[in-house]
Amino acid sequence: MLMNDSLTNHLRERLLYEGLCEVGFSRVDQTVPPDLSRYHYAVTLMYRLSDAVVDEIDDSPTYAYFQHYRAANALLDRCALIACELLRREGAAAYPIAASQSVHDRGDRYTGIYQHKSAAVAAGLGWIGKSALFVSPVHGPRVRLATVLTSRELPCQLLPMESRCGDCTLCVTACPSGAILGRNYVRGMAREEIFDAEKCSQHMKKAFGHIGRGAVCGICMRVCPYGRKNNS
Ligand code: SF4
Ligand code: SF4
Repeated sequence: MLMNDSLTNHLRERLLYEGLCEVGFSRVDQTVPPDLSRYHYAVTLMYRLSDAVVDEIDDSPTYAYFQHYRAANALLDRCALIACELLRREGAAAYPIAASQSVHDRGDRYTGIYQHKSAAVAAGLGWIGKSALFVSPVHGPRVRLATVLTSRELPCQLLPMESRCGDCTLCVTACPSGAILGRNYVRGMAREEIFDAEKCSQHMKKAFGHIGRGAVCGICMRVCPYGRKNNS
């Protein structure tokens, strides 16, 4: 059996080889359904979206972005299966959380069974932006995320990052639906205090349903200065 540090190195190297840009580790600190309560650690999988595709987004998403979004989710789901298998070979139980799957039986129609972005913050990989998107200091919000829960203890002492949004309001003014309220996220805040998920979703369905079936927009992601090549 690999030592914990060797296992995290092994997972990271293999998943970066598969095409991910970052892999992080954290303790489970969210409420999970009772049947997932045996998993105390989380592996965060991060894929960097294509700048060429994201930069084409202007005042609406593009067909290319919608396809790229789905392909990125498929790669993340595949990488989650690989991580599960690597953990299984080490004798650990592991459970993949889909890159993009809302569940409608938990009171909040816009959330999954485990919050990828909160796990990514707990892993020290970035913060929650005013847009309610996860923002990496390196890649900005131009990423997609997935998570694997595991029973295997993993070393994860990194401190969560505080918001680096500062006085920036680019996503607030660019959002066509008024969903971004303009507040800096502080740990422990409810999403509703910074972001109106209903407004965002309704706008995507109404304005962009013909492009991305109401599932994508991307404007707030595209305008964020973090992760842009020229940072402008
Ligand atoms: S995805 Fe579009 S509508 Fe939703 S918050 Fe971002 S910019 Fe606004
Ligand atoms: S555009 Fe500005 S305010 Fe919005 S998430 Fe990015 S840094 Fe934060």
